[in-house]
Amino acid sequence: MSSSDRLVVVGAGVSGLTTATVLAEAGAHVHVIADEVPGVTSLAAGALWGPYLVEPKDKVDQWSQHSLQVFRELAIVAGTGVRLCSGIDASRHAEAPPDWATTLPDFRPCEVSELPPGFVSGYRVTVPLIDMPVYLAYLQSRLEEAGGTIGQRRLRTFDDAGPAAAIINCTGLGARDLVPDPALYPIRGQHVVVENPGLTEHFGEDTGPSPDLLCLYPHGDTLVLGGTAIDGSGDLTEDPATAQAILARCTAVEPRLTRTRVIEHRIGARPTRSRVRVERDHIDNGTPLVHNYGHGGAGVTLSWGCAADVHQLLSERACGRACSALI
Ligand SMILES: Cc1cc2nc3c(=O)[nH]c(=O)nc-3n(C[C@H](O)[C@H](O)[C@H](O)COP(=O)(O)OP(=O)(O)OC[C@H]3O[C@@H](n4cnc5c(N)ncnc54)[C@H](O)[C@@H]3O)c2cc1C
Repeated sequence: MSSSDRLVVVGAGVSGLTTATVLAEAGAHVHVIADEVPGVTSLAAGALWGPYLVEPKDKVDQWSQHSLQVFRELAIVAGTGVRLCSGIDASRHAEAPPDWATTLPDFRPCEVSELPPGFVSGYRVTVPLIDMPVYLAYLQSRLEEAGGTIGQRRLRTFDDAGPAAAIINCTGLGARDLVPDPALYPIRGQHVVVENPGLTEHFGEDTGPSPDLLCLYPHGDTLVLGGTAIDGSGDLTEDPATAQAILARCTAVEPRLTRTRVIEHRIGARPTRSRVRVERDHIDNGTPLVHNYGHGGAGVTLSWGCAADVHQLLSERACGRACSALI
């Protein structure tokens, strides 16, 4: 097969690796080009399934449901980093649960007695919880097993990708310069990873518009504590004061954290825009370009659904010779 018959996926975060895997397993010759392997923002995610604060709603519902199905299947496969985890989302105010939560089979509202002191409403759900370093390594090996290849370098323009039947843009925040797309902006997030003192359930607080979040995600021996959501900041340097504040917030709801040891800090910038962008385009020389970026704080949740839409867009005959392997 000549290099002009290959599909080039730009980006090796959760969007790029998932999309590349779907295309390679469908029989296409796939090459991934990325600056970071894997993407730093994807590594920083907690990561709990949940379609929070992303639009457009109809597509987000469809993408997240598709991913939910795939994650349920991955949860019974050893070594994927995915498991189904029961836990509570709670609020210090009387809040109704989001619609998507109430449709989950084991959803139930909590009694106040089940909640930490100071919380007045909450609900319990069982959802996929994903250990991102393990999961991204799993995706990378699954892609390579399907014949996909990865080259680490930064592109200045899509033309730098070299010969390709089609290019798939999964560059997260990188799309701001590469497309360019000035509508894309960062929301900084910081997590502290600690030794797990024995937690098995997830916990999250509905903190409304506050930049200070509160979440606890147990992954076996480690526990990811969050977090923050700083609008407009793409600064990825660790902030010790923020880490201390996260530890204090989490310890206030989970006293077992009092003497836990900090293992590492993970910082990422959620690639945010008013609507996730999954659509067909082309570059100046006519090569088809399919965008898959702008997933904000829900890129893991949407990953399999968006990848399936990219596959669909490339399989449509309008994509021409480019995607003959997929038609
Ligand atoms: C603290 C935090 C917590 C989160 N928690 C959750 C959660 O619980 N659930 C959930 O669903 N989501 C969560 N998210 C959101 C999720 O992490 C993101 O939506 C997702 O990681 C975006 O993935 P991506 O692959 O699109 O981008 P990225 O992971 O940023 O990957 C982009 C890739 O493109 C490459 N790239 C960019 N520009 C170029 C270029 N010019 N040339 C070559 N390569 C380039 C990069 O090197 C990288 O490989 C969280 C995010 C953060 C920061």
